[in-house]
Amino acid sequence: MPEGPTVRKFCSVTSPFVGQRVTKVGGSTKQILLQDLMGQQFQDHQVHGKNLYLAFGCRMNKQGKADNVNTQDNGKSEEDCSLINEPSQSTPETSEETPVRKWLRFHFGLYGSVRANELSRAKSGNKKGDWKDPTPRLIVHFDGGGFLVFYNCRMTWCSCPFVEPTSDILCPEFDKEKALCALSHPRPVCITLMDQSVFSGVGNIIKNEILYLARVHPLSLGSVLPVETLVTLIDYAVTFTADWLNDKMKRKALHYHIYMKEQCENGHQVVKEAIGPTYGLKRLTWYCPICQKLVKSGDAVQPALE
Ligand SMILES: [Zn+2]
Repeated sequence: MPEGPTVRKFCSVTSPFVGQRVTKVGGSTKQILLQDLMGQQFQDHQVHGKNLYLAFGCRMNKQGKADNVNTQDNGKSEEDCSLINEPSQSTPETSEETPVRKWLRFHFGLYGSVRANELSRAKSGNKKGDWKDPTPRLIVHFDGGGFLVFYNCRMTWCSCPFVEPTSDILCPEFDKEKALCALSHPRPVCITLMDQSVFSGVGNIIKNEILYLARVHPLSLGSVLPVETLVTLIDYAVTFTADWLNDKMKRKALHYHIYMKEQCENGHQVVKEAIGPTYGLKRLTWYCPICQKLVKSGDAVQPALE
């Protein structure tokens, strides 16, 4: 699943198109009406957690009418689609150059991706032996001559991006205190780390890697771990994610310590187990039972006597 750093890379792929106008739209998606994008200007892009937000819109003239674009409100199909600043809602006093925009939110599921000026090609044949190229969900052509292609993603219009930088692991404003508070609950730390309201942008790879780096067993309850251990875990979450993003921007592959490994770096047999909330999604978790000792209540909270 594309995690925070990957989605930021996707965002950078779209950067060269900011300011350009949409000239042609295609793709298999039924989640939005393709004609809603026609003639719109691609105005801005943001990443929050694992979501990419692209702003499309037009500019208002003095009469409060949109310039040269399709301004219809096309009965949005998504439940959370609430548009603001629609041309029809603007008053005649609207000043010139008032931006009218709405945001298209992309979530990339397990295998989603974005490409610029190229289509994805089949890497292997299907069961029948046919080589079938992946079907784009959305293709957007711009007046600069280039195009963006989106694969395997969900998309929906929304009024504004979800801005909560204090819970975005890649934001300088990420709130470590809030994260520490959440991790201290009597819940397995591997489940808290996947809570997007606190660790937005953290996914399964980051979770596995930082638990190993911090030598924390995924099923240890946050409430029985020493505060210093939880702080170390949070520091790893921040630095590992930032390093991954840096490597990604330099096209360097990520080196895994434990994720999908048979053995840990010390040569121990790695355990692979599906772990998740009782009624929630179970995610494959790799850990070393020797390097990452399971801490039970009363085990670790006692400081060593000298
Ligand atoms: Zn080990």
